[in-house]
Amino acid sequence: MEDTTIAVVGDGFGSLMVYATAIYVGFRPEQIAVYGTSESAVATYYGYASNLGQTVLRSESESHFLPADWPTFAQLDAWSRRNPVPLLRSIRRRYNPGVTEILTEATTVEYRLGYHDRRVRTRVGWLERETSPEPRFLIFDEEARPLGRAKHVVLALGHGPLSFPRCLAQAREDSELGDRVVQAYEPKGYARDGRYVVIGAGIASVNEWANALEAGAKVISLLRNPAPDEQDLNTPRCFFEAFGIDAFQELTFQQRVAFLGQILKGTSPSRRGWIDVVEEGIAEDRFDQLIGEIEEITAGPAGLAVRVSSRHGPDPGWLDVTGVVCGTGFVRSTLAIPVIRRLVEQYGLPVEDDRIVLLSNCGVPGLDLAESRLCVMGLLANNVIPHADTIAGLKYVGRRFVIDCAEAERLRRRRFSSRLALQLSLASETARAIRRTRRTAQIS
Ligand SMILES: Cc1cc2nc3c(=O)[nH]c(=O)nc-3n(C[C@H](O)[C@H](O)[C@H](O)COP(=O)(O)OP(=O)(O)OC[C@H]3O[C@@H](n4cnc5c(N)ncnc54)[C@H](O)[C@@H]3O)c2cc1C
Repeated sequence: MEDTTIAVVGDGFGSLMVYATAIYVGFRPEQIAVYGTSESAVATYYGYASNLGQTVLRSESESHFLPADWPTFAQLDAWSRRNPVPLLRSIRRRYNPGVTEILTEATTVEYRLGYHDRRVRTRVGWLERETSPEPRFLIFDEEARPLGRAKHVVLALGHGPLSFPRCLAQAREDSELGDRVVQAYEPKGYARDGRYVVIGAGIASVNEWANALEAGAKVISLLRNPAPDEQDLNTPRCFFEAFGIDAFQELTFQQRVAFLGQILKGTSPSRRGWIDVVEEGIAEDRFDQLIGEIEEITAGPAGLAVRVSSRHGPDPGWLDVTGVVCGTGFVRSTLAIPVIRRLVEQYGLPVEDDRIVLLSNCGVPGLDLAESRLCVMGLLANNVIPHADTIAGLKYVGRRFVIDCAEAERLRRRRFSSRLALQLSLASETARAIRRTRRTAQIS
C-alpha cells in the first residue's frame, strides 16, 4: 500500500504538471504517488496526436512542462538550436512548439525528477473519504482491492470514451462495415483514390481533411450546421488570463455550460498549411462540403453507402464512400468515467448537465477540505476553468492544488536559489535533448 501526502489519479500531462510542481515547491518524491498504467505521461496525448498527424501544438510558447514558466518554450528552442527565429515568431504570436520538441521536454522532466519511480501502475476504480484518525482518502483498484492512501488527491483522468453519432456507433459493431468507420483520434489510413466523409469542422476534422487530401483521396466534409466559428485555440485568448477566469466564474453554471458549448463547438484554427492543402483539393475537385447528418449506412460499391439528410436545405441523399471519419471527439458526460460515476453515486455529489458542479478551486463539493483536498483537473474542470483541458489550464489548476497541499502540510518550501538551480538545470538538460531532435517546421 502506498501511503503518500499527494496522490495523482491518472498518469497523463496533468500528472506530470502536478508532480513537477510539487517537487519544485519542496515536496519529496516519496510524498507523491501517480496512479495509472500508461508508459509515460505523454503516451495518451501522443497516441491521439499521432493518429491526427499533429506536428505542432495549437498552444504557444508559455505552455510547457518546466515547473516555472521562464524560460518560455520559444526561448528554450532558440537557445537549443542557437537560432533566433522562434523568438521572432513568438513576439508575433506565431510560434507553436513542435510536438517532438515539447514531448522531449516532458520526457526530460519525467526522468530527471524521478516521476517513474513514483508510479503505481494500476488503474484506480474507487476512492473513499476517511475522516479519522485524520482526513484522507483510501484508493482502490478496479476490483476494489486497496492500493494506497493519500491526504490529498487530484483526479487527472483525461477524456472519457470516444463519441460517435448513433447510426455510426451501430455500424462499428457490424463486421462488414465496422473497419470503415473511425474516429479522427484512432489509427487510420487513406486509400489514394478513396472518397471519405469527414464529419465536423473542429481541429481534428480539419486535420483529417488535410491528411486525406495529402494522401490523394477525395474528401466530403459533412457539417451539421452551416457556419462553424473560426479561431485558433479551444478558448479565446483572454480566458487564458486570470481576468478571464474570474469573469467566467461569475457566470451561473448554466451560463458557463452554454458559453462553453458556443466556444468549443466546431472551432478550427486557420493555418496556412491546412488551407493550402484544402484549396488545392478544391481546385482539383477533390474537396466538397455538405450540410447534413448521416441517417443510414450500409455496404456499397465503394465500401460504404451513406444516406445524408439535412435540416438546412435539400437532402444530399445516398453517397458511395470508402470510409467515414468522425471528428466528433469524446463523450461529453463525465458520468461515462467510472471513477466519477461511482463518486457521484456513493457521495450523492451535485451533478448538472452531466458534470459535477465543482467548487471554484476545482474541488469536489462535500469531499474537498482545506486540510485534505480532493480536486479535479483537465477536461473534468472546464466548467470552472474554461481552458482547463490545455497545457496552460493544467498548469493553472495543478499549481493551485500543490500550493494548497503545501499550505495544509505546512511544508518547508524549497529556497529561491534551489528552485532557480532546479529550473535552470532542467532547462539546460531539455535544451541538450532538443538539440538532438529534428526541428519541426512551423505551419502558421
Ligand atoms: C489531439 C490533441 C491535441 C492537443 N493539442 C493541444 C495543444 O496543442 N495545446 C494544449 O495546450 N493542449 C492540447 N491538447 C489538450 C491536452 O492534451 C490535454 O489538455 C491534456 O492531455 C490533458 O491532460 P490530462 O492529464 O487531463 O489527461 P491525459 O493526458 O489524457 O491523461 C489522462 C491519463 O489518465 C489515465 N486514467 C484515466 N482513468 C484512470 C484511472 N481510473 N486510473 C488511473 N489512470 C487513469 C488515462 O489512461 C490517461 O493516461 C490536445 C489534446 C489532444 C487530444
